[in-house]
Amino acid sequence: MRTERIYISTTIPYVNAPPHLGFALELVQADVLARQHRLAGREVRFQTGTDDNSLKNVLAAEADGISVGELVGRNAAAYAALREPLALSFDDFIRTSSDPRHRPGVERLWRACLASGDLYQKDYSGRYCVGCEQFYKPAELAPGGACPEHGTRPERVTEENWFFRLSRYEARLHDLIGSGRLRIEPAARRNEALAFIAGGLDDFSASRSVARARGWGIPVPGDPGQVIYVWWDALGNYVTALGYGAGGDRAAAYRHWWAGSSRRVHLVGKGVLRFHAVYWPAILLSAGLPLPTDIGVHDYLTIGGRKISKSAAGAAGPASGPAELAGRYGTDAVRWWLLRDVPRSGDADFAAGRLVARANEDLANGLGNLVSRVVTMVHRYRQGRLPSGPAGRADAEARPLAAACRDAPGRAGAALDGYDFRAAIAAWWEVVGQANRYIERAEPWRLAAAERVGDAAAGRRLDAALGALTRACRALADGFSPFVPGLAARVAAACDDSAGRLPAPQALFPRIG
Ligand SMILES: [Zn+2]
Repeated sequence: MRTERIYISTTIPYVNAPPHLGFALELVQADVLARQHRLAGREVRFQTGTDDNSLKNVLAAEADGISVGELVGRNAAAYAALREPLALSFDDFIRTSSDPRHRPGVERLWRACLASGDLYQKDYSGRYCVGCEQFYKPAELAPGGACPEHGTRPERVTEENWFFRLSRYEARLHDLIGSGRLRIEPAARRNEALAFIAGGLDDFSASRSVARARGWGIPVPGDPGQVIYVWWDALGNYVTALGYGAGGDRAAAYRHWWAGSSRRVHLVGKGVLRFHAVYWPAILLSAGLPLPTDIGVHDYLTIGGRKISKSAAGAAGPASGPAELAGRYGTDAVRWWLLRDVPRSGDADFAAGRLVARANEDLANGLGNLVSRVVTMVHRYRQGRLPSGPAGRADAEARPLAAACRDAPGRAGAALDGYDFRAAIAAWWEVVGQANRYIERAEPWRLAAAERVGDAAAGRRLDAALGALTRACRALADGFSPFVPGLAARVAAACDDSAGRLPAPQALFPRIG
């Protein structure tokens, strides 16, 4: 039987500033999916990177008085360096300006669309938001003519550009998304994409003059006066990093991971839905390449009720940077807050106090305390040795715990399939709750006292209780390993009796503050 193969990507952020917590949310979500699928025995490739070719990077470098290459290099390194503080397990990291794999792939994508008759030259004049790197129609602008994402007035731009014939793909895109062959979650975002398509798709400008791009970016093949539109360039990373446009082994890697995966999953923020649900699939259709199968859309984080943006990151202070938070509170505490407190829909407001309270309540008092309690009882009543032999028939008191353990993997998997990370955690949290209730009902300390005065049946019930609780803790170690890998590994080690007995009990998650 062939192993199922899954490709998971994050978007690639432009690097005009160091990373902020909002993007950490997407990285951690993608990491959970990658770990979950690996745990299930699937072949996984998890990819992230940086969009170096954005005009915003050029403007930020000009403002700082340094070269674009220097600015991009410095900030891209800060993104790549999130790997350790956030415990990310990505398999590849692409930088679009310096990675030798990228440009040949983007050029090939361009030529494939040109060959399909979908690229043509046209004089154009429109309102362009540099923050979004896109043209807006007057009707799409906020009152006063401002960009709906940035609140700034887009500049009027007039030049001859290459255009992509998006209008040709209107009906096919609507059908693909409406039928679920290109699945967009949650449903509200699918409906948003369908409404955008139903409103009519205009061809979009796919190049910029070299002068307006300040000479930064990938030149249009055969037209050195133009560079390829940065979104076209950036979206291409999903296939160029895999070797699309390369020869030999690298082309084989592309076929393996893009054409050969049963699921191609893009995780994206709500603000870039249109590019991933409309522009990108249309480019792929034009080039004759397979489409993504899934687009999981998350909402935004806010601080003090305001969207965390790179321009506002300075105001929020470096204290809210993901690496700084992980350094201060620990990787698991940061991941736990992002996954446990951020709802699937609706923006979530970050405050360090919430992160601390959540970690102390759930990880120190909840999971950590449960496991320490169970290991301590195994030591106190059985010298650290777990009862040998097959598990006896669970008594009635143990049934809700056994049921929670049995149901959690399926419930968590279904929740993750819908990109609902909070619901996936809730499925496993049910096991924590049932284990604590079981301890209160079974009262192992009373069973131990009865056994000491000669009640052999109480001794057998104690064995069964300690066995059931240890199995539940092991299940929690597996279940939570995609979410809080560090703590989950400590739980697994605490419940490991391969040396004949469990290690001495210890605090698994000391309170933070
Ligand atoms: Zn904008």
